[in-house]
Amino acid sequence: MNDTGPHAALHARHRAVTPAWLATYYRQPIEITHGEGRHVWDAEGRRYLDFFGGILTTMTAHALPEVAKAVAEQAGRILHTSTLYLSTPMVELAEQIAELSGIPDAKVFFTTSGTEANDAALLLATTYRRSNQVLAMRNSYHGRSFSTVGITGNSSWSPTSLSPLQTLYVHGGVRTKGPFAHLSDAEFIAACVEDLEDVLGQAEGTVAALIAEPIQGVGGFTSGPDGLFAAFKRVLDRRGILWITDEVQTGWGRTGDHFWGWQAHADAGPPDILTFAKGVGNGLSMGGVVARAEVMDCLGANSISTFGGSPITTAGALANLRHLLDNDLQANTRTTGALLLGRLREAAERLPVVGEVRGRGLMIGVELVGPDGEPSPAAATATLEHARELGLLIGKGGRQGNVLRIAPPLSLSTAEAEEGAELLVRALQQAGDAAG
Ligand code: PLP
Repeated sequence: MNDTGPHAALHARHRAVTPAWLATYYRQPIEITHGEGRHVWDAEGRRYLDFFGGILTTMTAHALPEVAKAVAEQAGRILHTSTLYLSTPMVELAEQIAELSGIPDAKVFFTTSGTEANDAALLLATTYRRSNQVLAMRNSYHGRSFSTVGITGNSSWSPTSLSPLQTLYVHGGVRTKGPFAHLSDAEFIAACVEDLEDVLGQAEGTVAALIAEPIQGVGGFTSGPDGLFAAFKRVLDRRGILWITDEVQTGWGRTGDHFWGWQAHADAGPPDILTFAKGVGNGLSMGGVVARAEVMDCLGANSISTFGGSPITTAGALANLRHLLDNDLQANTRTTGALLLGRLREAAERLPVVGEVRGRGLMIGVELVGPDGEPSPAAATATLEHARELGLLIGKGGRQGNVLRIAPPLSLSTAEAEEGAELLVRALQQAGDAAG
């Protein structure tokens, strides 16, 4: 395309870094120069209210002074030690996360991303159980590496069908579509357990683990009913199969009612393995896996991530976590999340383009449909564009790409929640009008 528009020079600059898929998000990329609180600015000086938090990564706020200070001070002391040597912030952060995880006798292994955390979890589970057979959920997303694409339940997000793992998929993530639509919670759980039992009946030999997101993130902020994983765990426990909870999107109080997504299924008891990333570093490359010592210690020598848990990222994450806990942002998430959910549900009554508004805390999905009631990815793309014009950044996802994903930083104020809801409703209105 020959771009001669007003932003042509900027767009030419983006050519080398713009993968083709980015065009499914925005017609033209957005180059961010800086941020503050819940706002970011682009290279042309436009300000946006950020309702996607860098894909749920900016957990507390953009350019949080405490994080900037901790990182700068740490950079002045020492940048790197490798996991051969411990660093003070790494030790402190591990202690804190082990305690917060709810897993008894927990140990933490730091990585640089969610993908790497899930890779490490798979390595632990398959080594501990001496099997490369794992269970994953349909419609799931767990990362970009060779093993994590092998447990990603939506084939369109898996660039390869080859995998070092044998993966068996079970139902439970998507409520609204498929054979289990229109069931009550209890019936849905019973049907999913039956499916799990069937799948296990087909498995050959030992199954290492079930890995699942408590709320599917890329899958469109969709989840089974509370208690689903408790019911699953009873089946898994009978066979010694480990439960890995992928908390990359759902951790750190984002869901409002709970600090971790798995706690909505608390009668299941804690998971065997928990993975985290995204929010904890507030944008620093930080992830990790938490497991009972017995599971963590089954790995042999050389299980090292050169940059995982670096002094810089752990110092920044410590400051970020302190800010989150000291200011009880989880409580703020509950309040502002409920406000947003209410506003969007009210608007949905008069906007035919909105099929469903669902969510928990500041993790809200808005499912868009066409006049025929079928999923409308075009309406989602149009809403993103209109919202951008209005100064609001939102995300999208879902199997058909028709779900708007709303996930602002957890420090969102009530006024910002009201403002963002208003802008989003206007964008939805414009997208709906265009779709007829
Ligand atoms: N797990 C979940 C649930 C995710 O949403 C993602 C990323 O979106 C990942 C894992 C992979 O994390 P990363 O992109 O940090 O590798």
